[in-house]
Amino acid sequence: MSCALTLRKRGLSCTLVTADAESGWLYKADQLDNYPGLPHVSGKELLRILREQAEDLGAAFMHGTARQVQQLGDTFMTLVGNDVVESRAVVLAVGAARPKLLPGEEEMLGNGVSWCGTCDGMFYRGKEVAVLSAWKDGAEEARFLAGLAAKVDYYTLQPHEAPEDPRISLLPGKVASLVRRESRKIAVVTDASEAEYDGVFIFRPAVAPDRMLPGLKLDGPFIAVDRRMQTSMPRVYACGDCAGQPLQVAKAVGEGNIAAISCAEDLAHA
Ligand SMILES: Cc1cc2nc3c(=O)[nH]c(=O)nc-3n(C[C@H](O)[C@H](O)[C@H](O)COP(=O)(O)OP(=O)(O)OC[C@H]3O[C@@H](n4cnc5c(N)ncnc54)[C@H](O)[C@@H]3O)c2cc1C
Repeated sequence: MSCALTLRKRGLSCTLVTADAESGWLYKADQLDNYPGLPHVSGKELLRILREQAEDLGAAFMHGTARQVQQLGDTFMTLVGNDVVESRAVVLAVGAARPKLLPGEEEMLGNGVSWCGTCDGMFYRGKEVAVLSAWKDGAEEARFLAGLAAKVDYYTLQPHEAPEDPRISLLPGKVASLVRRESRKIAVVTDASEAEYDGVFIFRPAVAPDRMLPGLKLDGPFIAVDRRMQTSMPRVYACGDCAGQPLQVAKAVGEGNIAAISCAEDLAHA
């Protein structure tokens, strides 16, 4: 949001894509005693103030998980849920929380396992699928898949409101792993049961940055950046916790400001 404020002051339009503010670390910080100018402010309150300030300056907000960013010539296409956001630059401010993948998930991604109902749902027309979701958006995806697949079973990876739909069965148990069977089906193994499917769809409110942007250079668990907050890719910037230590709000806010200025300079010379 700090980045959005400065982008707007530099006359650029911007869309803030936010999966789930409640999953961000700032939301979880009860009280900040070291944020300059706002003593004892809670993370929730600071988020509210920042959002209002960004909206007042004309930043657009969009709810959803940014799953993939593709560069087509001078344009970036960011896949958000089932929509696409087009832009001339991208700033990553995805925090330090990383999704923990299930055993078997990475190996089968694109080969029976999918993170995108709209992209891959049609391959499972009339087939049996499982939806594994860590948040409420998975319920919407499951409803979409229920219109195509013969059977949809829903597993919750983290507590959230599951879909109430006669076409979707809610299955109990903690999912432990995904296993490929000789039949080519994929077994979803939980602590309570095991069932086999033609396809498995997994939804979470975060994606590892180098999965989002294949080829993005990392520095340990963080995105590698220079002092301008420029990543290894032209017109892609990163700021805040995802860009490295220390994991602090004042540092995130400062880096957002730097990323916006670098972005504005680069676009002016593009
Ligand atoms: C309990 C606790 C107490 C803390 N106390 C302090 C303190 O006193 N002082 C201090 O300075 N710092 C404190 N921190 C650290 C501080 O909260 C972080 O440094 C700060 O929130 C970093 O901001 P950020 O925007 O980089 O990341 P975050 O606040 O984590 O925000 C990241 C956002 O990106 C979203 N996101 C992630 N992936 C995607 C995606 N693929 N698509 C769309 N959206 C996505 C998330 O939903 C989230 O909204 C504390 C943290 C915690 C957890």
